[in-house]
Amino acid sequence: MKNYYAEIISVGNEVLAGQTVNTNAAFISRQLMDIGLQVFWVTTIRDTHDEIIFSLKTASKRADIVLVTGGLGPTPDDITKNSICEYFNTRLVTNSSVLGDVDKFVKSRGFQLTDLNRDQALVPESAKIIRNPIGTAPGLLLEKNNIPYFFLPGVPREMKYLLTESILEILSSKYDLPKIYTKLLRTTSIPEAKLYEKLEAVVKKYSKFELGFYPRYFGVDIRFRHQTKNPDELIDFENYYEKVKKVVAKYIYSSRPIELEEKLGELLKSRQLTLSTAESFTGGLIGDMITNVPGSSEYYTGGAITYSNESKIELLNVHNSTLLEHGAVSEPVALEMVHGVGNLFKSNCAIATTGIAGPGGATPNKPVGLCFIAVRLNKKEVVKNFNFGTERRINKLRGAVAGMEMLRRTLLDI
Ligand code: ATP
Ligand code: MG
Repeated sequence: MKNYYAEIISVGNEVLAGQTVNTNAAFISRQLMDIGLQVFWVTTIRDTHDEIIFSLKTASKRADIVLVTGGLGPTPDDITKNSICEYFNTRLVTNSSVLGDVDKFVKSRGFQLTDLNRDQALVPESAKIIRNPIGTAPGLLLEKNNIPYFFLPGVPREMKYLLTESILEILSSKYDLPKIYTKLLRTTSIPEAKLYEKLEAVVKKYSKFELGFYPRYFGVDIRFRHQTKNPDELIDFENYYEKVKKVVAKYIYSSRPIELEEKLGELLKSRQLTLSTAESFTGGLIGDMITNVPGSSEYYTGGAITYSNESKIELLNVHNSTLLEHGAVSEPVALEMVHGVGNLFKSNCAIATTGIAGPGGATPNKPVGLCFIAVRLNKKEVVKNFNFGTERRINKLRGAVAGMEMLRRTLLDI
C-alpha cells in the first residue's frame, strides 16, 4: 500500500516572526492524519515571491500533496497569487462566479464592492476554485506533475472551513487512503516515565501499533493509532487497548477527551453527592475548575479560600491549638479544613488544600512545594502529602488536579 506524504507551507512574515502562532499547520496536520495522510514537512516562509517559488519547488521534490496557507488576501503584502501564476505558468483572470461570491459577501456585511474586493476575483486561469462563502479569498487547487497544490486563506476560520467542507473530501476520494483507528486513555497523577515503566512489556509486545504518551500538567494522555485496510487487525488493536487499560487502570479517569473536573462532576452527579472546597494552597483554583463545567451547580455547593490562619479558624473551625502545634501546612490542619468546609457548606464530599506554593516561604522542615490535601466522603476523611516543584502557578495546578484525583479515587474506592 502506498503512503502519501503531505507538506504544509505557511506563508506569512508574522508567522515566521512568532507574532502569529502557526495554529493553521497544527489544525491541518491533525485533520490530514485523521484521514490517513501523513504530514511530513511544515515549512514556514516570508511573504516574498522568491521564497514562495523556492518552497513550492522544494515541496514538489518530496511531497505528494501540498497545502499552502496565507497571502491570498487583497493587501499588497499578499503576493501568493502572482507567484502561483509564475510557478504554474498561468495568468490571473477575473472569475465571474468568484466575483459574484465576493459581491454577495461584501454586501451582506453592508459594504459596497471596492477595487480591492474586485481583485479577490482575480484567480489563476488554470486553478480549480474552492468557493469560500465566509470570506473574500477563494481556495485554489492547481496541479503540476501530478501533485495537487491547495492554496488557502491565512485566516484560521476560513482555512478551517475550506479544509473541512471541501478539501478533505477531495483528498479522500482522490487517494486510496487507509482507515484510521484511534483510541485514547486519559491518565492522571502518574508521571510519564512511571507510566511507561508499567506498560513497557505490553508496549513491546504490540509494537506494530502506534502508541504515544502525551504529558500535560493534568496528566498523561495515552493515544493509540492504527491505520489499516484490513479490519481483522482491529481485534488485536482492541486487545492491546484492553491490556493497557488493565495494567494502569487506577490512573485512567476517562477514555473520552474530557478533563478530570468533568469526570468528577459525572461521578458526583450519578451518585447524587455534593461537593465543597476549602482552598489555601490552590487559592480557589479547584473551585474555578469545578465551575468551568456546565451544570456544576447541581453538585458544587461552595468553597472557601482560607488563606490566613484567622480565616481557617473563623470559617472552617480549625483549632488555634492545631495551628500552633503543627503549623498551617500540616496534615492535621488539612483534615480540620476538610471537615470544617463539609459542615459549612453541608456537602457530602469536600476537598481541602494547604501548602507552600513558593517560590518563598520554605522552613527547614517544610520545603517549597510541600502540600497537604485532604478529601472527605461523608464520614470518611483521608489526607496525603505531596512534594510538588518550585513554580508557583504549576504547583497550584498540580495541587488542584491531585485534590480532585484523590476524591475520584475515594469515590471509586481505588
Ligand atoms: P487576508 O484576506 O486577511 O489578507 P490572507 O489569506 O492574505 O488573508 P494572511 O494575510 O496571511 O492571509 O493572514 C490573515 C490572518 O490570518 C492574520 O490575522 C494572520 O495572523 C492569520 N494567519 C495567517 N497565517 C496563519 C497561520 N499559519 N496560523 C494562524 N493564523 C494565521
Ligand atoms: Mg493578508
